[in-house]
Amino acid sequence: MLKEIWSHIVAFDKIIIHRHISPDPDALGSQLGLAALIRHTYKDKMVKTVGFNEPSLSWMGEMDGALDEDYEGALVLIMDTANSARIDDSRYKLAAKSIKIDHHPVVEEYADINYTNTSASSTSEIVVNLYEFNKEAYQLQLSEEAATCLYTGIIADSGRFLYDNTTIDTLKATQLLYACEIDRNKIHECLYRRSLNIVQAQGYVLSQFEVSEAGVAYFKMPLDVQKSYQLTTGTRSALVNTLANIEGVLVWVCLFENEDGRIRANIRSNGPAIHEIAAKFDGGGHPKASGAMLSKWEKSQELLDELNEACQMYRRETMNV
Ligand code: AMP
Repeated sequence: MLKEIWSHIVAFDKIIIHRHISPDPDALGSQLGLAALIRHTYKDKMVKTVGFNEPSLSWMGEMDGALDEDYEGALVLIMDTANSARIDDSRYKLAAKSIKIDHHPVVEEYADINYTNTSASSTSEIVVNLYEFNKEAYQLQLSEEAATCLYTGIIADSGRFLYDNTTIDTLKATQLLYACEIDRNKIHECLYRRSLNIVQAQGYVLSQFEVSEAGVAYFKMPLDVQKSYQLTTGTRSALVNTLANIEGVLVWVCLFENEDGRIRANIRSNGPAIHEIAAKFDGGGHPKASGAMLSKWEKSQELLDELNEACQMYRRETMNV
């Protein structure tokens, strides 16, 4: 499949790369990294990246944007996106051919060619695999720009190799990127630097969160509180791991009120799988990291109830308590 995907990249003169809405470093890293990899090798191809420019990640690179006519006869690659509703920019449908490249559990096979590897830590790792698998046949070269984007995606999605999605293959892919002499200190500084307002908002979270008996920790952050800490939909996700690694906590949840009154939930687990519960609440993701969207605050109790039940079952099955 990795060979087949590259043969399509070779065959098309126009390539447009999409990824999911509310982009995270892996969505951008795989998108910008693949674009840089193709451009470096095929100077005559038109390669464009599209989607919302998330201000808090602008240090990773800006989108090129594309015109409707650019899609005529083009190949579209859609990175890190499990279902069509989450693709940033619905014009992917205008292309001659589409390819999905993802590492989330399969939700929808929306493209002409669908490649999913759920064992990969990140979609950026899959892009390194694409390179590795095809480099000799097509004399591909990994530029520092491509390697920087891909390294950023891998360390973000693997939690700097802390999460259990880190495999020997993740480390091998990273080894290749190290060899490109990327400026790791600069990347780490950009990725992990916390602005003062975020640190203060973490103080709010730590003073407000609650923990259920089953081990679900959560906090609710109304819109006015988010505004008082100058949080945006892009920057507030930095609060997600404030509740990580608390003794007795299996699942932790951030509940943020959106401008339109809906509630965005970020859910993380080091116990039961949570992606199927998230899917019941207009969400999805990975077994240990998912997102969901609730129509109103009252719905949050339903979500918490389901998570509590999953934790109780997990305790019974794996911990005999
Ligand atoms: P987040 O909590 O936004 O950081 O997302 C955690 C993981 O769940 C990421 O892999 C997201 O791509 C995925 N995810 C978040 N929200 C949704 C959603 N509404 N539907 C499907 N997947 C989602």
